[in-house]
Formats: sequence, C-alpha cells, structure tokens
Amino acid sequence: MSDLKRLPPSDPIYISGSLHVDQARIAISDLVKDLLAESQGRSESDAIECISLDQAINRILAKDLLSPIDVPVADNSAMDGFAFHGDCLGNSEDLVTLKVVGTAYAGKPYEGSIAPGECLKIMTGALMPSDCDTVIPQEFTEPPIPSDSSVVSFKQNRVKRGENRRLRGEDLQSGKPAITAGRLLRPSDLGLAASLGISELHVHRKLRVAILSSGDELRPLGQALEAGNIYDSNRYSLIGLLKRLDLEIIDCGIVRDDPTSLKAAFIEAASKADVLISSGGVSAGEADFTKQIMQELGDVGFWKIAMRPGRPMAFGVLKPVQGAKHKTLFFGLPGNPVAVMVTFYQFVRSALLQLNGASQTEPPMMQAIAENPIRKRPGRTEYQRAILVRGPDGKPTVKLTGSQGAGILRSMSEANCFVILSHEQGNVAAGDWVDVALFDGLL
Ligand code: AMP
Ligand code: MG
Repeated sequence: MSDLKRLPPSDPIYISGSLHVDQARIAISDLVKDLLAESQGRSESDAIECISLDQAINRILAKDLLSPIDVPVADNSAMDGFAFHGDCLGNSEDLVTLKVVGTAYAGKPYEGSIAPGECLKIMTGALMPSDCDTVIPQEFTEPPIPSDSSVVSFKQNRVKRGENRRLRGEDLQSGKPAITAGRLLRPSDLGLAASLGISELHVHRKLRVAILSSGDELRPLGQALEAGNIYDSNRYSLIGLLKRLDLEIIDCGIVRDDPTSLKAAFIEAASKADVLISSGGVSAGEADFTKQIMQELGDVGFWKIAMRPGRPMAFGVLKPVQGAKHKTLFFGLPGNPVAVMVTFYQFVRSALLQLNGASQTEPPMMQAIAENPIRKRPGRTEYQRAILVRGPDGKPTVKLTGSQGAGILRSMSEANCFVILSHEQGNVAAGDWVDVALFDGLL
C-alpha cells in the first residue's frame, strides 16, 4: 500500500484547491506514525543510546526514568523556624511557650529527642526529628526572638499541625517514573535526574537530517554575485532551526536546477539521512521538474497549502537507496526565505520531534492584543511576524515588523513571534486578541 494512502491526492489539490493547514499537519503526522511503526522492528541499539547527563539537553528521553529513591528521602523542614509536636496547638490566640533544646541544620541533624514543652531550632532542609510534626516559622514567633534565646513563644493558632514540613516521598516515590519517555529534555529535567543521583540517561539517537538548497540563481557565501544571482540564505536559516533541536545535520549544499544534479543529490541525501529538507524548486513552474524525479525516487505529494507565506510544499518519503534499510522522510519547502521558516515551524519541527520519539511536539501558543489593525482574508492561515511586548496597560501586545513579504527575511529577524491568523479569521481590528507563537521558549 502507498505510504501516502491517507494523504489527499496531490495532483488535484495542487492544480485546483488548497489544503487546509490542519489537514496537512494530520497527513504529515499520520505518515510519520507509519514510518515509526515500520522502524519498530529495527534493533534498539541503533535507536537508543545511553549518554551522560551533562550531554542530554534537548535530547529525547527513550525510557521512563524511574526514581531509585523517595524524594525527599526523609521528612524535613520547609522553613527556618522551630520544630515541635503539634499537640500543643489549638484554635485560640493563647501563647504557647517552648524550650529550645538544640539546633538542626541542613546536612547536620539533631541527634537527641524532643519532649513535650520542648522544640528544636531548625533550618530549611534539615531533618525533622521523629517526635516533631510541625514547624513554626521564625517570623511567626512572638515577639521575634534573639537568635540565642532559650525559649520561644507563638500563638496557638498561628500554624496548623503538620505545616511547614516536607514529607518523605512527597515529590516522588521510589520506583515511580520521575520523567516519562518522550520528554524533550530541558534544564529542569537534568536537574531532576541529578537530584535522584542519576548520571546517565537513555535517549533516542540523534536524527540525521540532510539539507539542500535548489536554484540556479543561488551562490554560496564567499563567491561574488553576478547578474541575477543571490546568496543561499535558506541553508543557514535551516541550520539554525535544526541546531535548536540538537540533530545531526548533513549539509548537501546548493544543487543546480537540472535533473541529473538534482537526482544525484536526492539519492546521496537519502542514502545518509532519516530526513531530507530541501528548499526551492516546488513552486508551480518548477514543480513538474522535481515531481518527475520524485516519481522515480519515492512517493511524494506536491501540495498547495492554504497559508501565507509558504503555499507550495512537497512532502512524502524517498525509497531506501544504496543499500540503506530506512526510508527517508522528505520535505520540499518553498524557496522564499520567510516561507522556509514558516513551513519549518508549522510542519517540519513537529514531524522531526515526532519521528525522534517526542511525546509533546506542538510549540506553545498564547494570546496577545494586536496594536494595529491587520488585513486578513478568510480562507488561509497567515503567519505575520511581530514583536511581543507588554502594552501600556500591562497586557501582552503585538506589533507587526514592517513589510510582510515572503522574501523579506528582515521581518523575521526583527520579530520575536508569529501572529497566527486562523483559516476562518477575517480582518483584525486594533485591540483584538490574536494567537501568538513565541520564537523562543523561556525554559
Ligand atoms: P522557488 O521556490 O525556487 O521558486 O524560489 C522562490 C524565491 O525564493 C525565489 O525568489 C528564489 O530566488 C528564492 N530562493 C530560493 N532558494 C533560496 C535560497 N536557498 N536562499 C535564498 N533565497 C532563495
Ligand atoms: Mg527556484
């Protein structure tokens, strides 16, 4: 059965109608699921590697990380204050006075016992003695006491029994998953693993992603431009986008618009890579050319997507070549520099994460107020480049970055987010709330 069995037929779509962005995303995700199901038979050693914790940022966890210990490992104090047994607490404002019999520090527990009428000066993180269950924070004592005082007083109802104490296993229990498989590992995950004493993690091996730029007009950096030439910028945008995901990049350079060179480049890339991303050569005039090659090399649909920028796009799989066992996922992105980044954001990023075993693949979205009116016609999804700031009333506000043409990379460079206007949406008035996708996550 064709790998594109669930895709809408490519030719009629390309020639007549346009594909809704959401339909395209579902079709892509379905195909990736098929590829994953096929690769399940391959040996695990190829797919998973064990790496040291300090190398694991942005990698994808391949097995649930089970906690070998309870966290916290023992009951301890959540505050600087005094630990005591809560029997003396009540509902009135009457004062309780307790004798301070010692001090417990984090890492230096108090060895003795605490009798009724006594308490222990205790620091945050210090072990709770077994005969105490409550901590009164230092600032709740009456009146605030000098640090060498031998007694401490506080109102009976100032704390409730059990307060300001962290219980053993409260965060995590031994044997339970601390981080589940599929997590794109962030700084907090590395810290969490370290807090459990774990120094190595099982992660999916890095995806190998080949990139190439196609177009006779393109010149590499360092070469002088002749009439009609431009520098190849797309490869550098793609390298930047891919580096954020910590993948292995195979740079196949610039390929001329002729069938022999293109075919050779596609075969070369498919033999080495899990995914090939090309830019250029898929717009109406040029698609026939690429299409012909793709018919020989794989099963690729040429789509006209109802979006702006980024309308034409090719997508599918290349057959295994040169003895390789794996198929290669192929994205033929449009040539326009902003369209490359938008289609990457909207389709490629999620597919790469999904193919690499991530469970959460969608970037987070938020809403902000449009500072200016935005012209928009229903029937396509638009990605406007904008700067998100805090408005005068404190609310998140977006302002578009100048001219929004698909070739104007500066609009992207100056922006820190996309304003995403949905398929059905019409004109936006100043003050309307709009969907926003930030370029950078915060943590
Ligand atoms: P195409 O999709 O090949 O028709 O290209 C659309 C527009 O994007 C044309 O103006 C191309 O010159 C431009 N373009 C294509 N590839 C690149 C590239 N790698 N870097 C910069 N601009 C490009
Ligand atoms: Mg071209």
